[in-house]
Amino acid sequence: MPLYEFTCEQCGATFEELVAAGLDGLGVTCPECGSEEVEKLVSRFASGGPSAGRGGSGSCAPGSGRFT
Ligand SMILES: [Zn+2]
Repeated sequence: MPLYEFTCEQCGATFEELVAAGLDGLGVTCPECGSEEVEKLVSRFASGGPSAGRGGSGSCAPGSGRFT
């Protein structure tokens, strides 16, 4: 069974759940608040990872004198 990641629309908690193919998250409840208002996240790469794409710009400004 594939492991899907869900997010709770009630408390905002995210959790992973093993879901049988075809059920599409039916019967999945939030482990935090027990709500059934959960949304399946399509991609596991969409959240939980470090914020990429930031940083690197401005750290090495060319032509700017840092002396005085
Ligand atoms: Zn919840």
